[in-house]
Amino acid sequence: MTSKISRRGAIKTVGTAALLAMAGGASAKDKPPATAAGLALEGAFKDGLYTLPKLPYDYDALEPAYESRTLKLHHTRHHAAYVAGLNGALEKLQAARKSGDFASITALSRAVAFHASGHVLHTLFWNSMKPAGARMSDDLARALEDGFGSADAARAHFAAACNKVEGSGWGILAYEPTGDRLLVLQAEKHENLGVWGVVPLLVCDVWEHAYYLQYANDRSAWVDAFMKLSNWEFAAARHAAARRK
Ligand code: MN
Repeated sequence: MTSKISRRGAIKTVGTAALLAMAGGASAKDKPPATAAGLALEGAFKDGLYTLPKLPYDYDALEPAYESRTLKLHHTRHHAAYVAGLNGALEKLQAARKSGDFASITALSRAVAFHASGHVLHTLFWNSMKPAGARMSDDLARALEDGFGSADAARAHFAAACNKVEGSGWGILAYEPTGDRLLVLQAEKHENLGVWGVVPLLVCDVWEHAYYLQYANDRSAWVDAFMKLSNWEFAAARHAAARRK
């Protein structure tokens, strides 16, 4: 019988390998990441700007399942627009910090979430397909069995999640580090209002339950209080861990 610890260890290893496989088609053995930034996708960022990565195959390589006309339009128009939108929103935020005018903070935060999620997910998406398909590693099959009962059950769960997303969005196989497990998620659109792939470092709860008894409707008084309490040591430790320094 496999011990719980070794099975969980296997999940952890495989979770990383699965993300790497999604990210670049390389196994952990081929390309061990020096940092969690090893999960960064090649060609998606350069010299301080987000960039449109080349596809890992030719435009006609996925035919007939995915025709080149659709793929090329998707990559050169839609994905490219996310890249341009993300760089533009970040530039506007830089201007806002400089001037101290945060009047557009909500619209700009939404723009960052929308474009960054679009950029990250499309980069993952191109790498999530391979001409003639790909064989699943034994490690990933074992992790899927642990998480979903069997690899076939995981595939059925993933396909059902994709089919049933309400409106536009994504089906996503993800590694969840708090529980050290794989999850299948549905994302409606993709920008509500997080960015897929980020690692949270410092969070402030602004749900009313967090402050209403003490501060009533004065959220800014609560945020002021939180800013005095904010634990930058914790944020720094998570930042270092995320970068594996
Ligand atoms: Mn798309």
